[in-house]
Amino acid sequence: MKHKYDVVIVGGGPAGGYLSYNLAKDGFNVCLIDSNPIDRVGFKACGGISSDYILNYLKKINLNQEAIIDDSFEEVNIIDTKLNTLASIKINLVHLDREAMGKELSNALRNENISILSNLRAIKLLIRNSSVHGVKLSDGSSIETSLVVDASGFNGLLRQQASQYVPYWHITKSDLVIAIMEILKGAQPFRTFTLTIDKSLIPGGYGWITPSQNKSAIGLGLKLDVKNVSLRYRLLLLKRIVLAKGEKKRSLIGLIYARRPFPTLVYNGYALVGEAGSQGNPLFGGGILGAFIGSDIAFKSLRKSLESNDEHPVSIDSLWRYNFEFMHQRGKFLATLDALRMFAQSLSEDEMKEFISHLPSKLTFDLKDIVKIGVKAIKMISKSRIFWRIFDMYRANLEIQKLYSKYPKRPQDFEEWVKKDLEIFESLRNKLLK
Ligand SMILES: Cc1cc2nc3c(=O)[nH]c(=O)nc-3n(C[C@H](O)[C@H](O)[C@H](O)COP(=O)(O)OP(=O)(O)OC[C@H]3O[C@@H](n4cnc5c(N)ncnc54)[C@H](O)[C@@H]3O)c2cc1C
Repeated sequence: MKHKYDVVIVGGGPAGGYLSYNLAKDGFNVCLIDSNPIDRVGFKACGGISSDYILNYLKKINLNQEAIIDDSFEEVNIIDTKLNTLASIKINLVHLDREAMGKELSNALRNENISILSNLRAIKLLIRNSSVHGVKLSDGSSIETSLVVDASGFNGLLRQQASQYVPYWHITKSDLVIAIMEILKGAQPFRTFTLTIDKSLIPGGYGWITPSQNKSAIGLGLKLDVKNVSLRYRLLLLKRIVLAKGEKKRSLIGLIYARRPFPTLVYNGYALVGEAGSQGNPLFGGGILGAFIGSDIAFKSLRKSLESNDEHPVSIDSLWRYNFEFMHQRGKFLATLDALRMFAQSLSEDEMKEFISHLPSKLTFDLKDIVKIGVKAIKMISKSRIFWRIFDMYRANLEIQKLYSKYPKRPQDFEEWVKKDLEIFESLRNKLLK
């Protein structure tokens, strides 16, 4: 049976908003559901720092960049908690105002032919005969459709229900980072975006300061599986150490996936996009750009699946092209970063400082950079403990590149592939972290 909506998208952040816009432009009947009020669709706790590559996506959907971009930086400074500079890296970054971005995105969506249901939550997947047929909403109503796209970010509520059919969608505490940030009035004693590391204050993570004339931001994110999280206390200490000043305007807390993407992003009638599919950067936790990139790949693939589809819901076989395209174009890179994250977490404080001091002085966030980081790190091989870990990471990365280039074209070959993926990462974890 053909439904009123070709696709129901849950979540109007960068991933869901961008996908809704593109599918509606292509003539599909789109229903977008977001739990925020209409003028805050897509707003969430977020530091708003991104590579300037994101501007390409803002342009594609004609968002007013002046309203969204608070600042731009050409350099990131990495310091320790004694305020010594460990590295200064040239990189083009922008600071986005997430609230303004939510407003701009929501305006752009309202100009398209999209049915937007704001202030409503999707609370349940409608699952029958091993397929997702739609969603149930918080007001008690239900919507049936051919395809539900879950772009609900970290939330995971819907994905958890589907994980009885797809066991690879479970999350463990070690895959999570918890982050806190404050927006402060006025400038800070830093001239550029600054990161700080300290294994006892911020285990498995880092702190950040985004200076700006009118409102600055300071925050930190650490592994959720540490013994004593005490986020607010840690942030207070960090503020004292870096001499951050200014009245607190807002405090935000949230969780972030710090792992590679889920090995499959689809099920019958259901697809994951953006942070819901863990498409953010496992090393830095940044996910806005990743959400746009994932959404772009999803758009090009899902459009084909919807066009060629006369099954309702769209079958997993038809949706599989999205998996295939994503893993080839992006999954490979993110899996490499996941291995690098494990390596970074295995370093002691001193090793980490030394490693950072060897980072290349210019970064663009592509695969070439990872190779450069590896080559620079080889300068540390005089320390044999590090040498063997670099060697293990390098070997795992070769296997990852090979495996992700052979991501299966059909769901029937997936089990064998995923077994190898799990083996590579389990073996690396055992070598580096145990
Ligand atoms: C404290 C913190 C700081 C961060 N800092 C940065 C940073 O500096 N740079 C960066 O790149 N990334 C950062 N991130 C991560 C970034 O915010 C996310 O990766 C990014 O927003 C993911 O985009 P998305 O579209 O996939 O999901 P989201 O932006 O999370 O959008 C999901 C949308 O779905 C809605 N929603 C959720 N559940 C439901 C439901 N059941 N029904 C209906 N609607 C629902 C939400 O209201 C939201 O609007 C940070 C995260 C946190 C927590």
